[in-house]
Amino acid sequence: MKYGIICAMEEEIRLLLSDMTDCTVTEIAHRAFTHGTLYGKEVVLVQSRIGKVASASTATTLIDRFAPDCVIFCGTAGGVAPSLHVGDVVIGDKLVQHDFDCGVPERIFEIPLLGIKYFKTDASLNQALVNAVKNYINDEMRNDIPDRYLKEFGIQSPAVHTGTIASGDQFICDNEKNQWLYTHVNDLACVEMEGAAVAQVCYEFDVPCAVVRVISDSANDDSNVDFARFVEEAACHFTRGTMKAFLTAQK
Ligand code: SAH
Repeated sequence: MKYGIICAMEEEIRLLLSDMTDCTVTEIAHRAFTHGTLYGKEVVLVQSRIGKVASASTATTLIDRFAPDCVIFCGTAGGVAPSLHVGDVVIGDKLVQHDFDCGVPERIFEIPLLGIKYFKTDASLNQALVNAVKNYINDEMRNDIPDRYLKEFGIQSPAVHTGTIASGDQFICDNEKNQWLYTHVNDLACVEMEGAAVAQVCYEFDVPCAVVRVISDSANDDSNVDFARFVEEAACHFTRGTMKAFLTAQK
């Protein structure tokens, strides 16, 4: 089994990269694809950069050139569902491109020709990831992230949620857009900028995929977490911890 793992930002992928062994790095279209062993499993790890085009092109190259058996995207997101707090983790069971609109109101979000609005992720990967996140939060999180950062970010006992993740080429940080998204997207949990693009590519190549996001902000006017610090001091640990627990538990 070969796992494809994608993160958008350098700060998110750094810890995973430093844990990889037996690596071969291949540069294609300004992306470094690192093929090697991670926590005992065969992995191809790559930084996509930010946004739907960057992540779709990265996923396409990853699948076409390295043939992973599944693709997992890890990163941060803005929590829209009122039950979500900074530090909670969302596993996307469906992904939608919230900025896709061909001008026909009843077909908003629908991708032409595919006729799909919501791309489903792989149920068994999702279940394994829910378990991995829970294990990380219970067993390792407090060793990785010092108390002062947990306090600074307001993280107490993070919860794991499953729901819709909406992606668009926009950092969402205003109440009006937040409310519009919550009203128009079914079962919306959080917003980010890559997941649905990767899910569409995986759908078209028929490769199982999953998207894991730790909540970094509340995608509205009163977001008071410093995003850059959150990625640097917390998100990278969630990503490494989750992937470590996930890959270690895989047969
Ligand atoms: N300010 C940073 C970029 C942040 S873009 C810079 O200039 O480099 C935000 C990244 O985190 C994207 O990869 C996106 O997937 C995710 N993200 C976190 N919170 C988000 C939000 N509220 N809206 C959209 N994307 C968000």
